Amino acid sequence: MLSCREVVNHADRLLEDDLSFSARIAIKFHLLLCRHCRRYVKQLRRLVAAIPFMHNKATDEEVHKIMDCIHSHRNL
Ligand SMILES: [Zn+2]
Repeated sequence: MLSCREVVNHADRLLEDDLSFSARIAIKFHLLLCRHCRRYVKQLRRLVAAIPFMHNKATDEEVHKIMDCIHSHRNL
């Protein structure tokens, strides 16, 4: 089974549908068993959904900053 760290590292690609079928299944399986990662992916999905509605569209760099911020909170 994937570690939580691996799930977090791939979560953004999961939301972008940018994973192979087997990778997606592995993550979904982890999410079934791990409520921490489930909550993380849910929050990430909300955040990604909110980005297009911001007054100024986020640049790629800003999105990466947000992702780094989420990842560092996750590791606290
Ligand atoms: Zn997990």
